[in-house]
Amino acid sequence: MTDARPRPKMRTVGGTLEAFEQDLISNLYYQRGTTLESASGPDGYHTLAVTVRDRLVGRYARTAAAHYQANPRFVYYLSAEYLLGRQLRQNLLYTGTEQFVRPIAEDLGVSLEELEAYDVEPGLGNGGLGRLAACLLDSMATLDIPAVGYGIRYEFGIFKQAFRDGAQVERPDDWTFYGNPWEFPAPDDRQVVGFYGSTAPALDDPSGLRRQWTPAETVRGEPSHMLVPGYGTPTVNIIRLWQARASRESFDLSRFGAGQYKEAVEDIVQAENISKVLYPDDSTEQGRELRLKQQYFLVACSLRDIIRRYRLRNTGWDAFPAKVVIQLNDTHPVMAITELMRLLVDEYRLDWDLAWSITRRTFNYTCHTLLPEALETWSVELLERLLPRHMEIIYSINHFFLQEVAATYPGDLDKMRRLSIIQEYPEKRVRMAHLAVVGSTAVNGVAELHTRLLAETTLRDFAELWPQKFHNVTNGVTPRRFVRLANPRLSELITERLGDEGWLTDLERLDRLAGAADDPAFLERWREVKRLNKVDLTHQVERSTGVVVDPDALCDVMIKRFHEYKRQHLKLLHVITLFNRLREMPEMDMVPRTVLFGGKAAPGYHAMKLLIRLVNAVAETVNTDPVVSRHLKVVLLPDYNVSRAQVIIPAADLSEQISLAGKEASGTGNMKLALNGAVTIGTLDGANIEIRDRVGAENFFLFGLDAQQAVDLRRHYEPRAYYERDPELRAAVDAIASGVFAKGDRSLFAPVVDAMLGRDEYLALADYRAYVECQDAVATAWRDRDRWTRMSVLNAARTGFFSSDRTVREYCDKIWRVDPVRVEPD
Ligand SMILES: *Cc1c(COP(=O)(O)O)cnc(C)c1O
Repeated sequence: MTDARPRPKMRTVGGTLEAFEQDLISNLYYQRGTTLESASGPDGYHTLAVTVRDRLVGRYARTAAAHYQANPRFVYYLSAEYLLGRQLRQNLLYTGTEQFVRPIAEDLGVSLEELEAYDVEPGLGNGGLGRLAACLLDSMATLDIPAVGYGIRYEFGIFKQAFRDGAQVERPDDWTFYGNPWEFPAPDDRQVVGFYGSTAPALDDPSGLRRQWTPAETVRGEPSHMLVPGYGTPTVNIIRLWQARASRESFDLSRFGAGQYKEAVEDIVQAENISKVLYPDDSTEQGRELRLKQQYFLVACSLRDIIRRYRLRNTGWDAFPAKVVIQLNDTHPVMAITELMRLLVDEYRLDWDLAWSITRRTFNYTCHTLLPEALETWSVELLERLLPRHMEIIYSINHFFLQEVAATYPGDLDKMRRLSIIQEYPEKRVRMAHLAVVGSTAVNGVAELHTRLLAETTLRDFAELWPQKFHNVTNGVTPRRFVRLANPRLSELITERLGDEGWLTDLERLDRLAGAADDPAFLERWREVKRLNKVDLTHQVERSTGVVVDPDALCDVMIKRFHEYKRQHLKLLHVITLFNRLREMPEMDMVPRTVLFGGKAAPGYHAMKLLIRLVNAVAETVNTDPVVSRHLKVVLLPDYNVSRAQVIIPAADLSEQISLAGKEASGTGNMKLALNGAVTIGTLDGANIEIRDRVGAENFFLFGLDAQQAVDLRRHYEPRAYYERDPELRAAVDAIASGVFAKGDRSLFAPVVDAMLGRDEYLALADYRAYVECQDAVATAWRDRDRWTRMSVLNAARTGFFSSDRTVREYCDKIWRVDPVRVEPD
């Protein structure tokens, strides 16, 4: 850091600059086998990473010791995804060693930025759900909550997105190609997991509920862990990631000897495929059998590890729910419920009722969706084959559960059919969300509207049966990564204004900035910060797309996975409308805008991949039009990920949160953007509602149908009527249909037009007029610089609620009932 102000006292484990430099040189020599003179870039990066990491290891050891001593209740967070973001800067910040690195790097003639180029982000997640897991773990460590995250160490993370002729192409994300300096293998804790095979009755069990499973295939789970440091505290928790390895017998030496090389390693390949790739879709199932194997692999390894840890300090099973709370991040890890039942009943020989009581008190479930197609189900046929014992257990759980239902609603067969864990028609499938609710103590939605709609629609029968099970815990984001690391300039300005860095762990203190929203000098500095961030973004845009954009234009961003319900196509209709207006009236005085899209589409999601082509085609047409491009630029930044988010978000003026109301569970991008002073244009959906409540209606651009109106309209909706009635809408749709963006080819984007005029599933045409008018109001507001900046300041000042620290506190109070354990300071 180059600031001359005395820095606030930082709890640092850095020691002295001299010691840090010594360690660097020694690590370079002993870890990389090289010297300063001959070190390569990767050598430099790796050495720096290890030197910083080593400063966390002492903290981790003390955390583990404190946890062992206290024998507290632990939170075990089970998630198929973690979208951690880059580690180097974070760990420099959390250890207070960034101050050393600058001068040392300068001495050596490299910059921190050059070294950071080698810091690869582990892309072990798709989007919001995985990023939430990372934010919650950051906050748990920061709040000294004893916690372990469990996940899969995918060999290939979320694909890298590139464009060829405007179309998305997916490249594998070989994120460990140069090694991952941030993880520690823990081979002693490996586990063995079975699949397939058969079950038989346990002869000594008259109830028939205990059985013995003999798997036909076994796979080893090799754990490694990544450190999850807290900010401003010595606590360092871990995420334990499992990688699949073939069991030792899998290598067929005799076949190899006989020259059958491929056959000799067949079993190895099959076993190791389990953790090979992250499924690039968080809402529909793919590669079914392998995906289910992944899910079971994760929970089987993790539960064995949780039990191993429990038994280090506890005996018997009575205390299990008092010491272990397991949070299921969506339905992906829900098989953990059946696996714990299997372990307790079959392996540890507990009576069914006791096992069920323990299980139910141990688990909690976070639901992340409202879309019916995103509610996971698995075919009974597949489950019976892959996990025969678990299927039996599901039947038993369902049997006892339906008895309970029958007692509550005598004779109501329809109710039983709706509540059942098994769906009967059109084929027998297991409803994972139902299993999750039945097997958990608490079920939570992720924003107020989402929780309400869950209880009224998707999980209505359950909410009636067990109203006390349902909770809301509105999502949050970590201000360390999404303000302090992403936006150092703004952080410095905030710290200067508020007097110290306390806001970083008590984000509601940002409300003290509200007073500054009327201070012209402060507004000027705020604008200057935003402008410098926009200059940085401009450089990144130019480097990755070649498009030159004006840092003074309104920076209008829509960054999120491409999905129909999020309505990138509505944004595109607005862009095309601006394009049409400028073509018609070249002299018009339009507010200059840069419209920035970022996001990947699932490789099999053809409608969204076509939309990506259309976005790129519109961008090309707009950016090369001599008249239009003076006022408007459109960019689809390739490969949106956490690192890109950290550059885009600080530069954003306008945050697009335009999903059809009632479809977005919460959103967290909306929170990151508001905290960085972007003003939201959005619908009454997900956490947008809570953002608007806090920033004030006058500082939020609201448009469109609400959730109820959307449901009502859907019943008799005719998109064509909107198209016929609104000349600007018609012109925008016609422009796509005419081939203007496809060099005259009318067929290429015809499916997009057909989807809009046919069913328009997400009512984009119905919301179009309100949206365009709202965008015109945005432009008017933008022209008044002080008014806009005031709105921007108030957005940041009033969104401190959306810190994931607050989210974790709510989980602790409402659901986990865990207490912090303090770790001895450095
Ligand atoms: C925050 C974040 C998301 C979630 O964005 P939404 O707008 O809430 O869907 C997705 N991807 C990345 C990389 C993020 O950082």
